[in-house]
Amino acid sequence: MNVLIDKLIRPEIRALNAYHVPEASGLIKLDAMENPYSLPETLAAEWREQLRSAELNRYPDPTARQLQHQLREAMGIPHDMALLLGNGSDELIQMLALAVSAPGRTILSVEPSFVMYRMIGLFAGINYVGVPLHAEDFSIDVLAVLEAIERTQPALIYLAYPNNPTGNLFNAEDMVRIIEAAPGLVIVDEAYSPFTDASFLGLLGKWPNLLVMRTVSKMGLAGLRLGYLIGAPEWLNEIDKVRLPYNINVLTQLSATFALQHKTVFDAQTQAIRLERSHLFSALSSLTALQVYPSEANFILVRTPPEQAERIFAELKARGILIKNLHGAHPLLQDCLRLTVGSPKENAALLAALNV
Ligand code: PMP
Repeated sequence: MNVLIDKLIRPEIRALNAYHVPEASGLIKLDAMENPYSLPETLAAEWREQLRSAELNRYPDPTARQLQHQLREAMGIPHDMALLLGNGSDELIQMLALAVSAPGRTILSVEPSFVMYRMIGLFAGINYVGVPLHAEDFSIDVLAVLEAIERTQPALIYLAYPNNPTGNLFNAEDMVRIIEAAPGLVIVDEAYSPFTDASFLGLLGKWPNLLVMRTVSKMGLAGLRLGYLIGAPEWLNEIDKVRLPYNINVLTQLSATFALQHKTVFDAQTQAIRLERSHLFSALSSLTALQVYPSEANFILVRTPPEQAERIFAELKARGILIKNLHGAHPLLQDCLRLTVGSPKENAALLAALNV
């Protein structure tokens, strides 16, 4: 069987490990940038009531018209821009890759950043080029990016704004230079938009090759798997052709439409997380052993003293707290841990465990 597997499965897929999601049951979950708050009970009851109308025997609305309408209204999508929905923004990254995939095509991003840009490139048979960020502050090395653009002529460039896992916003002027130099599409990935005031949404239309990608995951709806891409209809109509029919299921359409009608509830939660982020940042900064990086997202990157990340990760886990160990994930992330901002109680538990 192994011979056949080796023959059939592409070597680059054979070499991979499946995307590993650690077991988290019973742990305080501060590893995946989730919103720690659930729906208030009255709203949850109303939502369950709405679910009764779901017709599970029918295929979903293929274009999710009602949800699109609600998203436009709740998120202030510019009227002249189109929307494309994905089963999480992960699926949108996949659709973009499938739409441009051809021999010699390249995806470019900066590093460290969201790993799926590279992974999905690999799945779709597209070259990937990662240009290292500046080591001191994770800002963009613009000259290196411009050189890589010139050399590799990327079909797609991803810039996460704020960036995961570093938490910072890139300099907008640096990003504009990249957009203007790019021979292909530039996707500004605003997955963490609920936690920052900065956005490229208002700049759509200024450059023909700019798209903005967002998700409802971080605002508090990670379980629904819904991402959205915003940009000129000419682009999105083409990318829509590789979308699987009915990619947004009935329950997601219904639940997300309902949730977005109550966006103020989620705004209050993300606002509270922003406040907690500043408390957590100050408290972490007072721990002299840690180097703490500023964040505009719902997580904070810290660097431990040399060779301590693994130990601290394991000790926190033993105390019931799951965070993300990034040591080994990228040379610039040596001794780094990523801490999702949780509820005040969860953050207090984290700080108490770090303090010992
Ligand atoms: N973009 C960035 C920068 C992310 O960090 C993530 C999730 N961690 C995603 C996209 C994917 O989000 P989702 O698939 O949940 O919409």
